[in-house]
Amino acid sequence: MSTEHSTPTATPTALVTGGSRGIGRAIAQTLARDGFQVFLTYVSRPTEAEQVVAEIKAAGGQARAFALDVSDSAAVSDFFAREIKDSANLAVLVNNAGITKDGFLVRMKDEDFDQVINVNLRGAFICTREAAKIMSKSRKGRIVNISSVVGQIGNASQVNYSSAKAALLGLTKSCAKELAARQITVNAVAPGFIETDMTAILSDDVRKGYEDSIPLKRMGTAQEVAETVAFLASDKAAYITGQVLGVNGGMYC
Ligand code: NAP
Repeated sequence: MSTEHSTPTATPTALVTGGSRGIGRAIAQTLARDGFQVFLTYVSRPTEAEQVVAEIKAAGGQARAFALDVSDSAAVSDFFAREIKDSANLAVLVNNAGITKDGFLVRMKDEDFDQVINVNLRGAFICTREAAKIMSKSRKGRIVNISSVVGQIGNASQVNYSSAKAALLGLTKSCAKELAARQITVNAVAPGFIETDMTAILSDDVRKGYEDSIPLKRMGTAQEVAETVAFLASDKAAYITGQVLGVNGGMYC
């Protein structure tokens, strides 16, 4: 067996799921800027993921990309055993990977409900469980879950997605209580409507309707979410755990 990775690197590592695009990409770049070695995962877009790695390296940071479906329990366990456990100084986990499969309740198929729950909720559960085993040993860690304003207020045609994002808040608060004794903080960020591929599919009418309903009258940027995650991952947030920070232009105060 190779001993190449037998001693964890001194540089603290931040694992960002779904770091190939959108909010996860901005989080990966921002945590790299703040001095973390970033491990980012993707599921279907290796080119985008490697592009993020190249951008981070060009800016003087450290990053690696990994193909990993967060809803695949065996794959996640294997990934933590191979790439994290004895090889990386895991300091931060950001559960960012997420998908939508929108549709009205009466037409929503079982598989569309299950798939969204599996990626957005079960994926975060599996990654948090594996990270907690490692962080518990080092008696420190930061876990940040990317929820959504629709997990707080609901949204028509997003029963699956808003259920997953609401449950993620329960997961956050329970993990915060359970892991506090090990000095691991667990918080959630709940973005409002943010300019990414996920919202690029909205029609102009729907987008205008959302913008009109946002007190700050605009959609947010991925960077605005990333800066909030970076704060929660930093020493400045050492006494904050079990909280939900909205980044939503005032949609839900
Ligand atoms: P996005 O642009 O669609 O990017 C989604 C990311 O998740 C991609 O990196 C994708 O990888 C990855 N991913 C998807 N399924 C995965 C799986 N099974 N395993 C691992 N990775 C997977 O989404 P986004 O808008 O940046 O959203 C990021 C997070 O913020 C999500 O949790 C989303 O629910 C949440 N959020 C977004 C908004 C918004 O308005 N955009 C608002 C509130 C909350 P590939 O590139 O390989 O496909």
